[in-house]
This record gives sequence, structure tokens and C-alpha cells, in this order.
Amino acid sequence: MKQKFDIGIIGAGLSGLTLGNSLLSKKIKNFILIEKNSHLKNDKTYSFWSGPGLFDIKKSFSVKPKKEWSQIEIKVKNKSYKIDLGSYRYACYSSESILDELYKKITKEGIKVERGQSINHVKKNQDGWEIKLKNKKILLKNVIDSRPNKIFDDKYPSLKQVFVGSEIISNQNIFDENVVTLMDFSESNKNVIFTYILPFSKNKALIETTFFSSEINFKQVGKIHDLTLKKFDIKEITRTEQAVLPMSPYIDRKMEEQYFRIGNFAGASRPASGYAFTRIALWANQIKTKKEFCYDMIHHKENYLTNWLDKIFLSVLRSNPKKAPEIFKVFFTKVPISSVIRFLSDQSRLVDYFVIILKLPKLVMLRGLINLYVK
Ligand SMILES: Cc1cc2nc3c(=O)[nH]c(=O)nc-3n(C[C@H](O)[C@H](O)[C@H](O)COP(=O)(O)OP(=O)(O)OC[C@H]3O[C@@H](n4cnc5c(N)ncnc54)[C@H](O)[C@@H]3O)c2cc1C
Repeated sequence: MKQKFDIGIIGAGLSGLTLGNSLLSKKIKNFILIEKNSHLKNDKTYSFWSGPGLFDIKKSFSVKPKKEWSQIEIKVKNKSYKIDLGSYRYACYSSESILDELYKKITKEGIKVERGQSINHVKKNQDGWEIKLKNKKILLKNVIDSRPNKIFDDKYPSLKQVFVGSEIISNQNIFDENVVTLMDFSESNKNVIFTYILPFSKNKALIETTFFSSEINFKQVGKIHDLTLKKFDIKEITRTEQAVLPMSPYIDRKMEEQYFRIGNFAGASRPASGYAFTRIALWANQIKTKKEFCYDMIHHKENYLTNWLDKIFLSVLRSNPKKAPEIFKVFFTKVPISSVIRFLSDQSRLVDYFVIILKLPKLVMLRGLINLYVK
């Protein structure tokens, strides 16, 4: 006989495990998670902002950050612009520590996580959704799918964020461990290219080479990454990570009856940055704080103004990537950092939108806006 569950969550990554914990907080226990990987991987470094007026993600995940910073740096044409974060912080976490904590909480409550099960097909029959695991079939009333899409949306102004990162130990004490290099731009007419550095100590850092691009070309990103690494007199590379993240203002809402999508490709990924951690945390908190769970809550609610500004940003980045370094420089140095952080964290106040629109270069942004309608 097939085992039956009310809900089957495909993918025990960040959104799947976070949702699992939110369901438990609503006393919903008749669910199962199905995950492709047989063990947790330490293959991502999650970073996000914290501080006054922002939802306290640290508290909700109860995991210690790997490191926190109170200063960021933007570099354009080798000129450095350092920005003090005041009471705000930029922190990073290893994906392993976050996912392990979420996983433990779920399994402690007796929820089954089927690991090492790659799901390629979900079949609809009259009793619900049927999934074939290696040694059995299960029947689900509802499916919540967090698998990444194989195809990326290419509709204007969508982009992809492609990056390659290496955690390194240098032979020299070359890093300022108090300052995150958020964006150190390289010049390019075709893509937005920058280096991102999270310094863990004077000689240890995660160095990432990132492209905002309309194509996925790991070979090209890897080549620039190798050149970048040469600057750091490397003793050892201790870990690597890489990704292609959607930067799309269009959420894939294609769903069938009792089949829902969550995660990066279903609205968690912030269009203008590719960051998804904050959105997933905010969305989980929304579920936790509502009296009763309903499937409507699975959707990410779009904020019209944020999405509109993201579209204009993306339009500028896609049609005029050469201008990106200047725009990001103005964004981080001319807009008050509290407004920047609230905007990037999906927790803007009206005044933040106003000040962002006021400070950004008008002509370039206007062209971006026009391109949205003509391209
Ligand atoms: C390297 C990296 C660094 C990132 N850094 C940041 C950051 O600093 N800040 C930020 O906000 N966001 C970051 N992101 C973006 C985002 O927060 C993460 O991608 C986050 O993990 C998204 O959660 P998710 O559940 O959508 O995807 P995932 O966490 O990837 O979960 C999807 C799960 O589905 C499983 N799966 C896939 N296919 C199948 C299948 N066929 N059958 C069963 N299971 C399957 C996968 O193994 C995975 O466990 C980063 C992403 C990456 C890849």
C-alpha cells in the first residue's frame, strides 16, 4: 500500500526546510520532504543585512553568524568608497549550519526527510499526486516543489547572476577583516562584472567573481575568477561555491491544482540582486504569525513599488551594463544607508523609495524605464 501524506515538499534546501518548520509551528505534521542529495552540503554562504527596523532573521533561525561586518566597500575604477553601516550589520552564515539546524528541528518532531531521492516525475491520479521513490511509492494530496527550473526566463529585462567563489588562505595578511567588499567592478560593455570579498580574518576570505548577464557562461566567469585570485598570493583554496541565480521580475506562477512552487524560481529570488534568504525568512514568518495555514500563503506577495524599481534597475543593467558601476556607487554612497538596506531587505518605507528615486541618475534611469516598454 502507498504511504499517504497531506503535503510532500520536494527539495530539502532553504525554502523546503524553512516551510517544513513553519508547518510545524502551525501543528501540521502530516508531511514529508524528499531531497536529491544524500547529505547536507556546505556549498553556499548565505549573507544578509540586520539592524533596526528589520525583521530579526538571526533570532528566527537561532544560528550564530560565521562573521558580521559594520563597514562595506564599493570600488569603481580602483577608487574605493567605504560606507559605515551605523547600527546595521552585514552577516554571513554557512549553509550547512543553517540547514542543519532546520533539519534537526524537523526530524526531532518525527518528520521524515527522504534523502538521496531525485524526483523527476510527479504523476497526477484520481487520489492525488504520486511520487515514485527508490523503494516505494507515496501519495500526496498537495505537492510543494522547490526544485530549481532547468530553463531561465529570458524576457527583457531579466538577467542571470552567475558566480564562482573560492574560500582562500593567503600567504599574506592582505585583507581588512572589518570591511566587506560588496562590489569591486571590472569594466565591461557586455556584462556587469564585479568581485565580492567576505574577509574572515587578515589572511582568510571568500572571494567571488560575479556576472549579471543575459547568458550563462561559467567558462568566462571562471577565467576572470582565476585572474582575480592571482592578486591574493594564495596558499590554499579551502572551499568553492558557484551558482546561477534568476534575476527576474516575473514570477513563475504556473501551477496546477494542489501543486505549488516555492524557492528561488517562485519569487524568493530578489530580481535586482538574486538574494533570496531574506524573502524566504520573511515569508516563513508570515506563515508562523498567521492564525491558520492556508495554501495562499505559499505565494510570495509582490510589492509593486519594489518590483517596479527592480525592473528599472534590471533594464539599465541589461541595456547599459557599462553604467552599472556608477549607478551602484551612487546608490550606496548618496542614498542613506538605512534606506539602502531596508530596500535591499524588502522592508522599505515610502520615504526610502522616494529618496532612492531622488538620488539615482535621472537620465540613465529614465532610459531604463523607457526601454521597459519599447524592448
Ligand atoms: C552558492 C550560493 C550562494 C548564495 N548566497 C546567497 C546570499 O548570500 N544571500 C542570499 O540571500 N541568497 C543567496 N543565495 C540564493 C538563495 O538564498 C539560495 O539559493 C537558497 O538556497 C534558495 O533556497 P531554495 O530552497 O530555493 O533552493 P535550495 O536551497 O537550493 O533548495 C532546493 C533543494 O532541492 C533539491 N533538489 C533539486 N533537484 C531535486 C530533485 N530532482 N529531486 C529532489 N530534490 C531536488 C536540491 O538538492 C536542494 O536541496 C545563494 C545561492 C547559492 C547557490
